Amino acid sequence: MIKYQYIIDKIREIYNEPKGFIPLHAPVFIGNEKKYLEECIDSTFVSSVGKFVDLFEEKIAKYTGSKKAVVCINGTNAIHIALKLVGVDIDDEVLIQPLTFIATANAICYCGAIPIFIDVEKNTLGLSPEALEEFLISETVLKPEGCFNKTTGRRVKACVPMHTFGHPCRIDKISKICNKFNIELIEDAAESIGSYYKGIHTGTIGKIGVLSFNGNKTITSGGGGMLLFNDEELAHKAKHLTTQAKIAHPWDFIHDEIGYNYRMPNINAALGVAQLENLNLYLNNKRLLAKTYSDFFESSSIFFFHEPGNCLSNYWLNTIIFDSIEERDIFLKESNAQGVMTRPVWRLMHKLPMFESCKKGSLTNSEWLEDRIVNIPSSVNI
Ligand SMILES: *Cc1c(COP(=O)(O)O)cnc(C)c1O
Repeated sequence: MIKYQYIIDKIREIYNEPKGFIPLHAPVFIGNEKKYLEECIDSTFVSSVGKFVDLFEEKIAKYTGSKKAVVCINGTNAIHIALKLVGVDIDDEVLIQPLTFIATANAICYCGAIPIFIDVEKNTLGLSPEALEEFLISETVLKPEGCFNKTTGRRVKACVPMHTFGHPCRIDKISKICNKFNIELIEDAAESIGSYYKGIHTGTIGKIGVLSFNGNKTITSGGGGMLLFNDEELAHKAKHLTTQAKIAHPWDFIHDEIGYNYRMPNINAALGVAQLENLNLYLNNKRLLAKTYSDFFESSSIFFFHEPGNCLSNYWLNTIIFDSIEERDIFLKESNAQGVMTRPVWRLMHKLPMFESCKKGSLTNSEWLEDRIVNIPSSVNI
């Protein structure tokens, strides 16, 4: 007997897909994608200069309500640049949740810095302000030069909370705590375009926010990332750093620091601009899908994760929570065997070999969630 056949059948019914494979999150191209790509190719400006790059930045800034947006090749690069811009350096410590995609932790290591893991909350899936404050009070000391870890002696330079599966974390509280302890706040909003905390778009409350347009995100540019700023001067620095730190000059090659070639090609931006035109349609569709799932799971013993209070979530990946790891594994096995793609949450960062030795607080909520979360198909359902 297939224990969770009724869930698998429901997903097939929702997607009107009686037999075929159902992915977790596939992009849909129903707008101007081909038109803009063709326009881009005809113009010959397919690389890192072109009108779609500027247009994508302008439109994302407007959509999110940030002053400036700067494109990157992907979200991981964008986090790397954000950390550099706030001054994260070799041997600094950066506070993150262990329940995140590897990109958040890797980007910290690209700076020669060290991630420290702080627990999440069960009702937001994001960084717990209480756990953050407790760590800072008990483990750090505030000096005029900044916040320092009492045990390691290292500077605690930044905090990068993540809005898990598109659900906003309690970013206002986190922001207050970071201010108090003189820690820079960067939001990993890679999963949360179209998600709002108390009416403010995620990624615009911290000093810098980061979006991702990878193929599995709510909208895609093939691959891509975006930095969000309220400080124009910082945005200007980001542009400089992502374009090989080249000084503008009619012909000469002068670079004034070590820069990066993190520019998004125009052809990717063309795709991104077309996708952005349909974002509101996608978001409505995704919220309807979440409502359908929510109604369905109401009459079952399985918990469907709802957006936290005061939030509007994009429901990037719909999430269900099982009673135990055993039940989770039965469902993962049964659904994937039948071609309905489902996934557990990422293996927690502090359990990966590279980060095993990193310092961590009590991570009981993260560990509880790790055993029970399953993401179910969440593509825009046309
Ligand atoms: C997708 C994602 C990123 C960025 O990923 P890229 O594939 O490099 O665009 C960063 N953090 C989180 C939490 C993500 O889900």
